[in-house]
Amino acid sequence: MAPLRILQISAECTPFAKTGGLADVSAALSRYLAAAGHDVRLVVPLYKRVKERGTELRPVAGLQDLKVELGGRTQWFSIWEAAAPRSSAPVWFVRAPQYFEREGLYTQDADEGQRFLLLTHAALLACQHSNWAPHIVHAHDWHAALAPLLLRTHYAWDRLFQATRSVLSIHNLAYQGVYPASMVDELGLANERHLLHQDHLKQGRFSYLETGILWADGLSTVSETYAREIQTEEHGVGLQGLLRTRSERLKGIVNGIDADEWDPASDPRIPHHYSAKKLAGKAKMKAALLERVKLPGTKSAPVFGIVSRLTAQKGFELVHDAFSVFLRREDMRLVVLGSGEKRYEDFFAWLVQTFPDKVAYLQSYDEELSHWIEAGSDVFLMPSRYEPCGLNQMYSQRYGTVPVVRRTGGLADTVVNWDPATQSGTGFVFERFDAQSFYQAVERSFGVWRDQSAWKQLMLNGMGVDYSWERRIGQYVELYHSLASVRR
Ligand code: ADP
Repeated sequence: MAPLRILQISAECTPFAKTGGLADVSAALSRYLAAAGHDVRLVVPLYKRVKERGTELRPVAGLQDLKVELGGRTQWFSIWEAAAPRSSAPVWFVRAPQYFEREGLYTQDADEGQRFLLLTHAALLACQHSNWAPHIVHAHDWHAALAPLLLRTHYAWDRLFQATRSVLSIHNLAYQGVYPASMVDELGLANERHLLHQDHLKQGRFSYLETGILWADGLSTVSETYAREIQTEEHGVGLQGLLRTRSERLKGIVNGIDADEWDPASDPRIPHHYSAKKLAGKAKMKAALLERVKLPGTKSAPVFGIVSRLTAQKGFELVHDAFSVFLRREDMRLVVLGSGEKRYEDFFAWLVQTFPDKVAYLQSYDEELSHWIEAGSDVFLMPSRYEPCGLNQMYSQRYGTVPVVRRTGGLADTVVNWDPATQSGTGFVFERFDAQSFYQAVERSFGVWRDQSAWKQLMLNGMGVDYSWERRIGQYVELYHSLASVRR
């Protein structure tokens, strides 16, 4: 099939600006699409953080001093380019200091909606000013979700976009970008008002993500199970009805992992390397990890790892309710990396106080340490309440670290429950979101741990699964091609 021109619009991109899986996915998707011969541009904001990490940027000729009307005034911006590591897809940064020179990626500021609408306009204007006609505009999450609507309205006059089709990917339905209806004019959407959800406008609000779901030519989300779940009352976060009406257009594609970045045989972030054939380095990583986080070394006790945003989604209530029993009873270690809601931070800090020889908690975001924990742990905990896809359970399997997960979203699609009879499976999967079910899954992990030959088989099963993007990219290309014939 002919190569495509694909514009990706995302609020995050590894390694420049990341808070979660979205960054890994937008970067890897762009990189692997480019490797498959497609012409890809990934457009992201030029956050303060991007500059602070010393990124080398150069202005893109012809894309300086551009402007758009937004927030009741003219907003100027320019496009700067950086070479993404190992990728032939350039990353285009939108330089608009008035919006993006702030501490975090996301803010609670009153103009948050404007910030990401500027990103969307900038991406489309950059296409116009470089006379680059994308076949596909692929918008990620609520931040870019107005792109499909704008292509049908604001930019529809331009023949450049005549053959352009839009895809909206939902990485997490809980974040929708909901704003008061009174902001519609200020956002320059007065002419689009009749295309927004009319009942919700009457109720005084409108939502970026909902608008995207209404108007995108194609919809995708990051696992097959999550694609089904978000059409239900339990997981639909209010959008289940709309998603059901568009279900023929909604495709679940499980995320891949960057198999070069996350390879225990060559990972530059860890000091000892290993593979399924040569496992010795894993024991060395375990010792190195425990030393680094100042816990007593051990070969016989399992090390449990957590690397996560600490939010209600991730299910740490279950760790709160069920894990102390193990810490009291078993010889074991727990290493936790992550920050977020105070109640979870306080809980892990309390665990350290209560079990100082068994628990270490690092309340930070630390890329390198996340690789150490994947490599140095024996078991990885992801008891998520919901999980659109999840990446760490796949990294874990690749690193021979056995995941304990709840059967939800992408966790259900990527972890196969261990079956002692057939010695098949790659982790411990539990069904219900309650402490007892989680407890039993951890209990099972201890049971298998005591039989080290079974444990080795379990590790090797996970290490042998191919979660690479190479396997996924074809599904996106298929989705893109299927939209070419969609009539507006
Ligand atoms: P989500 O996008 O919901 O946060 P994912 O599992 O899809 O969850 O992706 C999370 C990504 O962010 C993973 O690459 C994980 O390693 C990384 N991550 C999360 N918290 C931290 C942290 N405190 N330090 C380093 N990396 C982190």
